[in-house]
Amino acid sequence: MNACAARPVTTLLVRLEGVREVAPGRWRARCPAHDGHRPALAITECDDRRVLLHCFAGCGVDAVAAALGLDLADLFPPREPDGYDVHLARPATCHGRRFTDAQWLPALTLELLEVMVVVGAILRRGSVTASEHARLVRSVARILDAEARCHG
Ligand SMILES: [Zn+2]
Repeated sequence: MNACAARPVTTLLVRLEGVREVAPGRWRARCPAHDGHRPALAITECDDRRVLLHCFAGCGVDAVAAALGLDLADLFPPREPDGYDVHLARPATCHGRRFTDAQWLPALTLELLEVMVVVGAILRRGSVTASEHARLVRSVARILDAEARCHG
């Protein structure tokens, strides 16, 4: 495993144009999925090295990744050899503390991306592994937990 593979954000940044670091772990760049010269794409590297993308013009994460020739899976750190995801074993960020909507939405976006990546792998292979099933169950639990907290 090389350093680039260990940091998905590196894979991403080298493909983007007009990249500017705006804060530690946060960048702005031109969005490859739509025409425009403004740096509409916000890139955030999470503590667990997952990459969060947001185009202020409204492009979907899948469209941005596709425009760069990347798969959504490229936005996630490599899997552990046994297929178990270390980052999912951690408790959700700020457990016990009330999230604002602005904090929950990126967290939920990541969960949904995880689900999309897992489902994509399942569709390609035509079968489900036990660890994939466990990840889906965990993602659903987190989304339900988020929903409950938003109402709590
Ligand atoms: Zn865009």
